[in-house]
Amino acid sequence: MNGRLFGSSGVRGLANVEVTPSLAAEIGAAVATCSEALKVVVGRDTRTSGAMLENATVAGLLSCGANAWQVGIVPTPTLAFLTKQLKADAGIMITASHNPPQYNGLKIFNADGMAYDMKSQDKIEETIRKRQFKRTNWADVGTSQRVDETSLYAEAVRRKVKLHRKWHVVVDPGCGATYNLAPQILKSLGCKVTTLNAQADGFFPARSPEPNAESLEPLAKVVENLGADIGIAYDGDGDRAAFIDERGNFADFDRTLAAYAGHVAKQKTGATVVTNVEASMNIEKMVEQNHGKVVRTKVGDVYISEEMKKHKAVFGGEPCGAWIHPQLHYCPDGILTSALLLRALENEDTELSDFVAQAPVYSTVRKNMACRNTEKNRIMKQVSESLRSAFPEHREISDVDGVRLVLENGWMLVRASGTEPLMRLTVEGESLRTANKIMAKATLLVRKLVEE
Ligand code: MG
Repeated sequence: MNGRLFGSSGVRGLANVEVTPSLAAEIGAAVATCSEALKVVVGRDTRTSGAMLENATVAGLLSCGANAWQVGIVPTPTLAFLTKQLKADAGIMITASHNPPQYNGLKIFNADGMAYDMKSQDKIEETIRKRQFKRTNWADVGTSQRVDETSLYAEAVRRKVKLHRKWHVVVDPGCGATYNLAPQILKSLGCKVTTLNAQADGFFPARSPEPNAESLEPLAKVVENLGADIGIAYDGDGDRAAFIDERGNFADFDRTLAAYAGHVAKQKTGATVVTNVEASMNIEKMVEQNHGKVVRTKVGDVYISEEMKKHKAVFGGEPCGAWIHPQLHYCPDGILTSALLLRALENEDTELSDFVAQAPVYSTVRKNMACRNTEKNRIMKQVSESLRSAFPEHREISDVDGVRLVLENGWMLVRASGTEPLMRLTVEGESLRTANKIMAKATLLVRKLVEE
């Protein structure tokens, strides 16, 4: 692979082209070397390249003296949870999350079950680049064993969530890593469970590993036809959840996140909720009316969980469906999310459609502007000042990720693309008219800077 190995969510690329067994073995060796690990938990999702990369990763670990505990096909949050529970020094999940079937990757967790931060990732990269692996002598090579400890995770979820209503849920794991665990846990919580695509299949023949309105159309039909209470779907590795309401409509990601954040804020006065810079402002609307506070971070669950720890936040989430519930752990967790959403509906004595309808509908417009890569730094430096003076009425300006300016009736975000010669403009307004008006003004300003 060219450039940095790690992206915003671990190492990711085309299986056997970019993410090869040799790379997996090097990452395994680097993790064992850097953390001086004696015990590492290794899991994977259902991808066809999973076993190949798992075995290579384990070989790397063993070569540097670590013992590998292989938990097989599990959701990413389960792997993170087990890493801490089993008192391992690190955890490695082989997954490409919601990416198409031909991709795969590795996501690394520390002994606390937290995803590796930038510093730890840099250490792994450097160890691989300089080939500073601490290989052991023949007598100290590690051992591997297969273990099934998923019941520890299932019990933990059951302890955290009690349901009283017999919900009829249609569960769609999409042939991914939640295929057996999600139906099993929801059943144990007392739900009547109908399953769809609940077999492990690395070709993902039923739908894309990414749950969205389009890929969940078949699930929506089943929910409607059966008159079920809710449809629940997960991404390929089960850290994201998406929902279909009792009428068979896809529950908008931003509004569901905002409604749930509002619900959590209601339970505790002055609570902090964390989300990323791209999420809709309806989360502030829902949280602030319940006397809570919203903190925004860069896009990526690693940043959300770090900020949550710092602020002792009660909840954090991104509008892709990755929600973090600190009562169990700091890894986004789809199964836990679905159980807690059902509990929230019970607490508010409502159905999903009405629950989501509490969050207002706003309008978002997006625009890309061509911009040479070499000019990006200069422009981003000037954008802040230029927006500040053009919108003197702004409520807030932040540079946590690009430049984000908050107005009374909307906000805008200007970011330089990390991969393409583009500037990306995002605007949200209380109405489409407002959004377009803000976008028109922002476009003129940024264009002027690009053309300078
Ligand atoms: Mg995922």
